[in-house]
Amino acid sequence: MLSTPSNTAVAGSQIGDHGIADGIDEGVLTTFFSETVCDRIACLEHELRGTPRFHDPLAWRYSVPELAGLDFSPETGRAACSAARMMEMFRLFGVLSLDLRDVPGLGHGRILNSIGSRTQFLTELRQIAHGKSFVAICITEEQGGSDLHALQTTADRHHNGYTINGTKSYVARLRQADFYIVFAGVHGLEHGLSAFLVRSGTPGLSISDIHALGLQGISWGTLQLENVHVGLGDRIGGEGQGFSLFSDHFTYWRCAMAAAAIGCAQAALNRVKQRLHTRYAFSGLIGRFSHLQQEYAVHASRLHMAWLLVQDAARRIEGKLPGYMDSAMAKAEAVEAAIAAVQWAMLVHGAYGYSVEAGLEKRHRDLLGLRIADGTTDVLRGQVARGLLGDELYALSLGRDVPPRNSIKERRLW
Ligand SMILES: Cc1cc2nc3c(=O)[nH]c(=O)nc-3n(C[C@H](O)[C@H](O)[C@H](O)COP(=O)(O)OP(=O)(O)OC[C@H]3O[C@@H](n4cnc5c(N)ncnc54)[C@H](O)[C@@H]3O)c2cc1C
Repeated sequence: MLSTPSNTAVAGSQIGDHGIADGIDEGVLTTFFSETVCDRIACLEHELRGTPRFHDPLAWRYSVPELAGLDFSPETGRAACSAARMMEMFRLFGVLSLDLRDVPGLGHGRILNSIGSRTQFLTELRQIAHGKSFVAICITEEQGGSDLHALQTTADRHHNGYTINGTKSYVARLRQADFYIVFAGVHGLEHGLSAFLVRSGTPGLSISDIHALGLQGISWGTLQLENVHVGLGDRIGGEGQGFSLFSDHFTYWRCAMAAAAIGCAQAALNRVKQRLHTRYAFSGLIGRFSHLQQEYAVHASRLHMAWLLVQDAARRIEGKLPGYMDSAMAKAEAVEAAIAAVQWAMLVHGAYGYSVEAGLEKRHRDLLGLRIADGTTDVLRGQVARGLLGDELYALSLGRDVPPRNSIKERRLW
């Protein structure tokens, strides 16, 4: 038990006080950090609770830099925490707020730590791991989100670097980020995308905001790049390596977002549990109704199944086994299970569940954003089907040249 003010808040909580159901899981936290760091995190939670800054990931990262450095050791370049352990952290912060999904680790800065580029970006990686810098990933454009082949941003190669032109849309974190990882097609290179590190403040960049329904703890908007110059040393990996950087990174990141979604819904189910035990209707606790008990069991089971998918995908990442399909499965199913659980939690809370004060509607709005961000559920299920059924049917669905069936490449789950 930590000796912090948050304990007092938790002890004094009633229904409607987010302390019990939506608080930091101290049991998990103490397995990551010393008592001093745990105390700092608990104090911060207490200080920020009920203020808009509670949902600001930078407030957490700057105040407790140990959180930002969880998955990167500047000395070795290796992860300090395994992927499975990191998923516990993403889940823990998802309980607090889905806006805090960016708090643990390097976030999208992980791409800078990919093979062959670690020493190249060591200064930036250190800044990110010390909670001093933040990274936005800029892929989506008005004409291409799921379809990476439709991206139109271009990079023209010169003797000393590249000039990038294009417009990235629906990008999170632009206002907060110090570094943008921009995906573009190199002129003259027929196939493949390339990734570049662009520093905020570089001439030719301009940002405009888009008003989002949820996930408002960080900005969301458009990044215009007009003759933006980057050096040769700002290319991440080789020319045309963008797709492989993308799939490596999103194998991890989708798994992390699945864990955060599970945490987000877990908090809503905790609230339901309290409600079932305390709310009276028709002369008895509403928890006596078997349909509510049954539904509670269904949502808890679905979330737990999704968590097992996350753990399994994380183990594959750790074991360097192909995991693109597995993390797509985990993210798609976790987010859908989480949305269903939170919607049901609102119903169980009656009119109070529909109020902003209850905090459930925010969880719902945030999850609807996560359902689209980092790959929509439909598109991710398409990747799962591709893994299980093979490239032939996938190519047919997209009207691409159909490769001959190769059943050896089809994943078998049983
Ligand atoms: C909150 C939020 C944060 C975001 N943050 C970022 C960010 O930081 N950086 C960034 O680059 N982007 C970001 N995005 C954009 C996001 O990655 C894209 O919106 C997403 O990949 C979907 O692309 P799209 O919007 O173009 O949808 P589309 O590609 O138009 O897809 C729309 C729908 O069409 C169907 N569809 C399309 N293709 C297929 C297929 N192959 N198989 C089956 N169905 C298909 C599906 O039903 C899909 O849901 C964010 C989006 C949101 C909502």
